[in-house]
Amino acid sequence: MAEHRTDIAIIGAGIVGLSTALELVERGRSVVVIDPDDALARASYGNAGVISRGSIFPVAGPGLLAKLPRYAMGRDIAVRIRLTSFPDFAAWLPRFLAAANEPAWRRAASALNPLVAESYSRHMALAERVGARHMIKRNGYLRLYRDQRGAAAAKLERSVLAEHGVRVEELDAGAIIDLEPHLRPRFTSGLFFADSGSVESPGTLVEAYADHLRARGTAFVKAAARSIEQGGDAVTVRAGDETIVAQKVVLSAGTRSAGLARALGCRIPLAAERGYHLHLRPAGNALLNRPVFDAAGGYVMSPMGELVRVLSGVELARPDDPRDERQIRAVVADAQRSLPLADTPGEKIWMGSRPSTPDGLPVIGHPRGNSRLFFAFGHGHIGFSNGPITGLVAAQMLSGETPAIPMAPFSPSRFGI
Ligand SMILES: Cc1cc2nc3c(=O)[nH]c(=O)nc-3n(C[C@H](O)[C@H](O)[C@H](O)COP(=O)(O)OP(=O)(O)OC[C@H]3O[C@@H](n4cnc5c(N)ncnc54)[C@H](O)[C@@H]3O)c2cc1C
Repeated sequence: MAEHRTDIAIIGAGIVGLSTALELVERGRSVVVIDPDDALARASYGNAGVISRGSIFPVAGPGLLAKLPRYAMGRDIAVRIRLTSFPDFAAWLPRFLAAANEPAWRRAASALNPLVAESYSRHMALAERVGARHMIKRNGYLRLYRDQRGAAAAKLERSVLAEHGVRVEELDAGAIIDLEPHLRPRFTSGLFFADSGSVESPGTLVEAYADHLRARGTAFVKAAARSIEQGGDAVTVRAGDETIVAQKVVLSAGTRSAGLARALGCRIPLAAERGYHLHLRPAGNALLNRPVFDAAGGYVMSPMGELVRVLSGVELARPDDPRDERQIRAVVADAQRSLPLADTPGEKIWMGSRPSTPDGLPVIGHPRGNSRLFFAFGHGHIGFSNGPITGLVAAQMLSGETPAIPMAPFSPSRFGI
């Protein structure tokens, strides 16, 4: 049974925890990272790899309430709701519904914009530090519509994006094919976010960060944290057979963070918006130059080396509910109508959870009156993009520096803690 003593214990080695560790080590702090080290269990492994400059909107927004019946009845490929899991969303759902209006949605966009605006540059800064710049491409992101109705629905988003200075190019069918010649002529218009980028293997980038930390002497405890105890002038984390005594603890365990926080008396409503992916092989000479979001299907196709990763939209369920692969199967069949994609027998379907708060904003900061505990989770659909900037502001706040962006909207205090 080993005991570690450190400045900061970090619970969770996804993009958020590792970015925080890298920034703390840069500031000369000693860090111990605690994680069971199952790569496939991380959302940071299985995501679409998009570093998205345009993703400043929470899921709850104007128009959502009208769509809920379709979602609840399983009539929409984009969103599925596992109704039997509803008791678990008792605290989350009312807040989510309360946020589904234009003023709240606009406020959330204003809060997220400064964070999202730094996502690409902070990814590059970290990747540079570990020699992984080549893994990130500034290839832009395409959002495509199949008809006028879809494009018209995005009009409000476009005007809010313009207010926030996000560069968006409007595309007609011809311009879409110029950018992605192998897409079938299914899309009538689209938006191109030139300031977005992507990573062809998000899991490999995250591993590169972990390897860099290990090579520089950061200890990794390969176990799940099972308890956090505060007392005297330290915090004690127990994980497997090991005890970690730290000055401060960062809780960055993705969707599992809420359970650990609850044990400390901090109730934060967090839902698992589950998603699935499957890799397919482009047929013939087909290729995809960048990630593409099909707005009608609510899914993404993202180039991953020689393959294309097709990722489903949302399944609202508990993280440990049994898998339901019907949604991803339907999404894959639909994607094959957009791009020539051959089946890949033997490829396994991956499932993971987006850690989502009801207001669509991450939780970053100390619970009220507690300088030893720090929360960094709840990044929902945009956590891969915003892991590195979160790591920076977390390290700044933990080191008594002024954070690079306004942090008040992300404070846990909005949940009364
Ligand atoms: C299908 C899908 C597509 C997505 N696409 C994108 C995208 O293109 N762009 C984007 O920006 N975002 C995307 N996201 C969202 C993004 O992946 C997540 O928001 C982000 O990865 C969350 O990172 P994290 O570090 O908070 O959590 P995770 O990556 O889930 O990491 C949490 C870590 O905590 C560990 N852990 C859990 N419990 C414990 C414990 N008790 N003790 C210690 N460790 C523990 C886990 O093992 C894990 O390693 C997508 C998500 C999904 C599911």
